[in-house]
Amino acid sequence: MTPTSATAPASTPPSELDLMPGVTATPLALLLLGRQRDPDSERGVDCPGELPAASDPTLVERARAAKAALGDRVFVLGHHYQRDEVIAFADVTGDSFRLAQQAAARPEAEFIVFCGVHFMAESADILTGPGQAVLLPDLAAGCSMADMATFEQVERCWEDLTAAGVADDTVPVSYMNCSAAIKGFTGRHGGTICTSSNAKRALDWALARGTKVLFMPDQHLGRNTAVLEMGLTLEDCVVYDPHKPGGGLTAAQLQAATMILWKGHCSVHGRFTVDSVRDVRERVPGVNVLVHPECKHEVVQAADLVGSTEFIIRTLDAAPAGSAWAIGTELNLVRRLAKAHPDKTVVFLDKTVCFCSTMNRIDLPHLVWTLESLVEGRVVNQITVEPETARYAKAALDQMLALP
Ligand code: SF4
Repeated sequence: MTPTSATAPASTPPSELDLMPGVTATPLALLLLGRQRDPDSERGVDCPGELPAASDPTLVERARAAKAALGDRVFVLGHHYQRDEVIAFADVTGDSFRLAQQAAARPEAEFIVFCGVHFMAESADILTGPGQAVLLPDLAAGCSMADMATFEQVERCWEDLTAAGVADDTVPVSYMNCSAAIKGFTGRHGGTICTSSNAKRALDWALARGTKVLFMPDQHLGRNTAVLEMGLTLEDCVVYDPHKPGGGLTAAQLQAATMILWKGHCSVHGRFTVDSVRDVRERVPGVNVLVHPECKHEVVQAADLVGSTEFIIRTLDAAPAGSAWAIGTELNLVRRLAKAHPDKTVVFLDKTVCFCSTMNRIDLPHLVWTLESLVEGRVVNQITVEPETARYAKAALDQMLALP
């Protein structure tokens, strides 16, 4: 692999970015990451006391000391898309569901520090016991996809389905990447949660119980699974736009559809294009293009392989030395895969930075602040789900675990 220096603003040392070959840092991405002067960068974050400066040279030592002082009382979860500096302190890494399961399997841990985004911490709170507190080091770590489906919008959608006479035949299937309120809605209406690993099994299960699925909030995962794995056609899918009256669909369209896809997407995976695939094939001869199913349908069709984060990791592990891979998923993970496989060429699919800006809100200063607060006896940024919502959300999560 030929190292290429990144184009970075003067205020940010290039070594800090350590980007992929051919990848160029954009000022917007850095602003979103809060690395430039951004007066709103800490908006919504309540950090009583001092948040350590990112330049503090003792941060690693402070995190290590606080974690050691807490011992088994704390369990730190690190999502695959987190920064290396945070992953270094994770007791376990994984995708959102694996992490929530890991938290539930540690009843002795009083404190679950979830280095991920808000909906993941909610799921961990739903699955863990009453004596456990789930903490999110930065409350601004949300998910743009999860935010694309609010409870009120989904309730209105269900009213539209009812008015069209199809609600009774529709089973809701919600991707893990949604709020606890949407998971609760799903459980209340007899549906299931799914991940990118088991979306086909979830859809098979749902279509054995009803004639239609309301798939939320990621239209791309729903469409890719239905069309590429289940033999449905694009015409079997309609897109419900929560910002349009009636979702922008007629009753006849809802009645004719098998898949009612929510108009939501991941702002990170949505950036990959067919041009990205074409460009990388020109840049890297013989490259295998491997993308996440949150990518657009045409991008997945242009790629060689598609699969969940865990599938991407497994595929790279099994790939022969000397093979070349362009990966279409979040950049922190792709960088770690490149480092873990020096015998293979692993490049990022796009030419520009594609971090998940909200995942990147969790950094070492926030982790240190969270751990040191616990040492001082203060539980900060606790995420709790209201019991009624949690009960139905857990039913939908349990249904996922029981999928055939
Ligand atoms: S990568 Fe996409 S789906 Fe995942 S947390 Fe970030 S915005 Fe949400």
